[in-house]
Amino acid sequence: MALTLFSRRPAPAPAPAPVEPEPWFETGETWTPEGVTVVERYWTQVHAVVLVYTAAQGYRHTVACLGCHFRTSANRRAGYDWLQLEDAAAAANEHASSCRAVPRDIPARPDDDTVREQLRTWVTAFRNRGADEQIHLESLDLLRLTIQRTNDWIEATLQQLAVDQPEILRTQTSEHSDRVSYYARRLPQG
Ligand SMILES: [Zn+2]
Repeated sequence: MALTLFSRRPAPAPAPAPVEPEPWFETGETWTPEGVTVVERYWTQVHAVVLVYTAAQGYRHTVACLGCHFRTSANRRAGYDWLQLEDAAAAANEHASSCRAVPRDIPARPDDDTVREQLRTWVTAFRNRGADEQIHLESLDLLRLTIQRTNDWIEATLQQLAVDQPEILRTQTSEHSDRVSYYARRLPQG
C-alpha cells in the first residue's frame, strides 16, 4: 500500500528561515549624491567615509567627511581658492587618518521648497551696500551635499528667483554665448 507508506512518513522539518545579515546602514560607500561626481573615497579608522567630489567643473574639488562635518574646498597652502585633485586627495587622506567620528547617516535629499529657500538665503548673503555682487555657482561647492541638485536645476531655480524677486537677484546673459551670470542686488542705501 504505497499510499499508506507515504502518509506515514514524518513531515519534513520546516526549513530554517534563511538568516539575512542586518544591512549596515548606508555610510556613503556607494552613495552618488545628485549634482556632483564622487571621484575618490577614503575610510577613517572607524569606517566613516570621506568623499572627494567635484561639481561638474572638474578642476575644483571638495572634501567632505560623512562621519564628522569636516568639509573643505580651499587650499590656503598652495594659494588657490580651490582644491586640485591631488591636493584634495591629500586633504582627504590626512583627515581620514585622524578623524574619530563614527559614520552618520548620509544627508537626506531635501525637498524642492527647502532647496529654493536655501538658495535664496545663499544669494541674500552676498548682498552689500556697495554694488551688485556677482555670484558664481562654484561658491556653492561646500553646500552641494546639502542641496543635492544638478547644475541645471540650480540655474533654473536662480533664474526663476530673479523673475520672482528681482530686488534680490538679477541675471545677465552673455552677448557671445548663452551663459548666464548672476548678481546679488545691492542693498538699499540707508
Ligand atoms: Zn571626519
